[in-house]
Amino acid sequence: MNIQDLIRPTIKALKPYSSARDEFQGVTDNMVFLDANENPFENGVNRYPDPQQGKLKVMLSEIKDISTKNILLGNGSDEILDLIFRAFCEPNQDNIVILPPTYGMYEVLANLNAIGIKKVNLDDAFQPKVDDVLNVADINSKLLFICSPNNPSGNSFTSEAIEKMVSNFKGIVVIDEAYIDFSTEKSWLSRLNEFPNLIVTQTLSKAYAMAGIRLGICYASEEIIKVLNTIKPPYNINELTQKKAIELLNVKDLATNQIADILKERSALISELKAISYISKIYPTDANFVLVKVDDANKRYNQLIEKGIVIRNRTSQPGCENSLRLTVGTPKENEILIKTLLSISKS
Ligand SMILES: *Cc1c(COP(=O)(O)O)cnc(C)c1O
Repeated sequence: MNIQDLIRPTIKALKPYSSARDEFQGVTDNMVFLDANENPFENGVNRYPDPQQGKLKVMLSEIKDISTKNILLGNGSDEILDLIFRAFCEPNQDNIVILPPTYGMYEVLANLNAIGIKKVNLDDAFQPKVDDVLNVADINSKLLFICSPNNPSGNSFTSEAIEKMVSNFKGIVVIDEAYIDFSTEKSWLSRLNEFPNLIVTQTLSKAYAMAGIRLGICYASEEIIKVLNTIKPPYNINELTQKKAIELLNVKDLATNQIADILKERSALISELKAISYISKIYPTDANFVLVKVDDANKRYNQLIEKGIVIRNRTSQPGCENSLRLTVGTPKENEILIKTLLSISKS
């Protein structure tokens, strides 16, 4: 597959903005920087941030065992997804394939960029119907979004199903691994070399406990990363975000320990949910949330709101009729949730 043929002509012809920090990258100690019209008085944020986030990428490359050349960072995964749309999808011509029920941003970004959407709903076990996915794609289907573990169902797709789609889809396949750190499945990162059309996205927003700094991570071939790099805003990751990410990633075993705690809490929560009379199904989960089917999702949602607990009502999503998505909280929060779920069971 030739990736160059998938890139929009406009993007191929684009000459990127060249920032002061792009044009001079040399020894930074003891140099006098008068090139970027910054305020010279030090306060920790008076200078523009590193446009290529060198230090942070080195840390991530060590954690994830991948070259920095295969990494692009975004202002949240949402910016990365938007860059992918703009690189590969021609407005009013191309389309994407999504597998509902799934993360809402794919559809929003397609609409925002005037890109068509082909939907192939997941089956009853929330697994992709692989042949239907491959059959629905046409020559203008540039992107296929695979969210695994999937939001809102929580399960991972089988590796056989994913491999068949990545191998046979004629465009770019984006595997959204926002919840991979909670999963028993292996990340597709280790297989990037095998599939030139594969993009894997991850985020610091979930397992790494940094939703507030907005840091999304994109892993792909050098060829794809280069394209996305030419179209990203020059200073897309601000200084505070880079600093905080480096600081927290440096705390030894922080994420590992918290993930273990959350998984333990998830098991406890699931066993307690089994005692709730109006919960008829607890879906298998590989993420930090649980999807449950109840008697009346709108009613239960409102009852919980009245008691001060906010969960996500997914009842309008395909295959999620009367389903609620519960994020695993602290032990205390989960206890409050269970108590409250029990207390409303008579009404
Ligand atoms: C939460 C989530 C993300 C993360 O988005 P950010 O913009 O990085 O916070 C991405 N994909 C899915 C499926 C998610 O649920």
